[in-house]
Amino acid sequence: MNKLLMTPGPTNVPERVIKKISEGMLHHRTSEYSKIFKELNERLKYVFQTQNPVLTFPSSGTGGLEAAIVNSFSHGDKILAISIGDFGDRFIKIAKAYNLIVDEIKVPWGKAVTIDEIKEKLTDEHKGLIVTHNETSTATVNPIKEIGEFLKNKNVIFIVDAVSSLGGIDIKMDDWGIDVLVTASQKALMSPPGLAFIGVSEKALETAAKSNLPRFYFDFLNAKKFLDKKNPENPYTPAVPLIVGANESLKMIEEEGLENVFLRHKNLANKFREEVKGMGLALFADSNAFSNTVTAINIEDGKASFIKERLEKDYGIIIAGGQGHTKGKLIRVGHMGYVNEEMIDKTLNALKNLI
Ligand code: PMP
Repeated sequence: MNKLLMTPGPTNVPERVIKKISEGMLHHRTSEYSKIFKELNERLKYVFQTQNPVLTFPSSGTGGLEAAIVNSFSHGDKILAISIGDFGDRFIKIAKAYNLIVDEIKVPWGKAVTIDEIKEKLTDEHKGLIVTHNETSTATVNPIKEIGEFLKNKNVIFIVDAVSSLGGIDIKMDDWGIDVLVTASQKALMSPPGLAFIGVSEKALETAAKSNLPRFYFDFLNAKKFLDKKNPENPYTPAVPLIVGANESLKMIEEEGLENVFLRHKNLANKFREEVKGMGLALFADSNAFSNTVTAINIEDGKASFIKERLEKDYGIIIAGGQGHTKGKLIRVGHMGYVNEEMIDKTLNALKNLI
């Protein structure tokens, strides 16, 4: 235990959060719980940069993505999906599991999508556009703000997977016109895994009321109904300890200030990338689309698993490897959430000794 998690999630959980969680169990139909849940909901709005409600479901990020699909579309709907890596591909698989007709823009790994590619593909037939903000498998960021501008006044539900970015890289739900914004507790939000958070615009809620894909547990309108009570609640037994923990971790973000949190991520990411390049290593992603929460580093054949193993065994540092066709060819180092310069230095020093 107590290894340093320099992974793109789950990430290190601050002692303060662990302490809050271990204070004891609450019952979810009490005013004490409602008060905490209410606080959490206000704090979620702050990190989502929205006036819209942010719904909480007990699930990992993937469940949040599934909830986004089943509440936004109807049988046989056609959508446009952008994939720039493994998580974009997964989002497409979820949409296809519900028999949506999915037109795909597949961008070579390490690159971001361009607005021109979207302009070329989007038609009046598309009911929605699904895209990953920060593609964790390639450490590459898509231009969500520009996509939002392009979609403005179009009759398209704009759904963004910000599982590995929200709370670490700027994403403005309202200003950028995002209808459904999905994240999870275990990455930049510094909490244990197990909660999906979903921001829903007015348009998203109106669409949910009309959409007819099958759903029961992950129902936006039902979650919203319970959230709107004078003393907010959840329809079913919530993951109480995780909610208590997330309320504390978001309080920490509030105390630091969102802009400062983004700046810390940016500075640490810049420092990490520069030093890695200084070691003679090459970065996988295009330099104009670098992620500030994760870095993917090219590693010569065969050495990636050696580096990963030694970092864990000799230094107590956990990192991630490549996914899909990059397996064995990349290492990925997460620098999001509860991360500071000391942790970055420790990782860089260890890395230096192993390459
Ligand atoms: N999308 C992205 C961009 C992710 O990074 C992840 C998790 N690595 C997921 C979706 C899936 O989230 P989870 O593992 O929490 O289901």
